[in-house]
Amino acid sequence: MITFHILTLFPEMFTSPFSQGVLGRAKDRGIVKLSFYNIRDYAQGRHKSVDDYPYGGGNGMLMMYEPISLALGAVESATGTGVADHVILLSPQGKLLTQAITQNLASSEHIVLISGRYEGVDNRVTEHLVSSEISIGDYVVSGGELPAMVLIDAVSRCVSGVLGSDKSASNDSHSQGLLEYPQYTRPSTIDGHSVPEVLLSGNHAEIEQWRLGQALKRTRDVRPDLLPDA
Ligand code: SAM
Repeated sequence: MITFHILTLFPEMFTSPFSQGVLGRAKDRGIVKLSFYNIRDYAQGRHKSVDDYPYGGGNGMLMMYEPISLALGAVESATGTGVADHVILLSPQGKLLTQAITQNLASSEHIVLISGRYEGVDNRVTEHLVSSEISIGDYVVSGGELPAMVLIDAVSRCVSGVLGSDKSASNDSHSQGLLEYPQYTRPSTIDGHSVPEVLLSGNHAEIEQWRLGQALKRTRDVRPDLLPDA
């Protein structure tokens, strides 16, 4: 079982994506657990603020250190363990999330995810409270909730028992370093477009050969940067 401890200002955003499909089933079967900590519940002071102006001026607000630190303390109390190895801040400045990282994280018992908002978080969170920063791509979205959902989904797919067949994850794009080969379903011809003949041949060795060739071609055409590691 893997538990994701999610620190967020918007826990309700996670409801729908994790109540259906592969992830919904994994949750129902107890393979994947989500635990929410609303950062606002840990805000101190009369105004219960979670954000403040950046020192030195600049646009927008930053999430404050203290509510995040207290929420992390609550995770440690709840689990009764030190979870410091797996405290991840979702950030566009982080290491790019890859299939290799998701596979690695999938063997964890507890992963803590901190979702930023506003212009980001006080940098002391990054310096002292987290073990890594992860980005879902070289662009900026408005908050860490969607990136956290992407990470949870991608990691959970690598956890044994989450997918119907463990084999389907190992055939996915990126799991072997290549993009997946093209696939087709019935009917064999539609609008004059036919399925490649080899797939109807029943010759499994030829089909495997064709699929490998197609995976290589697709990777070379679309993502040649992947080839040296593949
Ligand atoms: N000012 C920040 C910067 O330029 O690095 C961006 C802040 S962004 C509007 C607010 C929050 O969204 C971030 O703190 C982070 O948690 C999340 N976020 C935005 N883009 C992301 C990405 N590509 N990957 C992971 N998290 C992201």
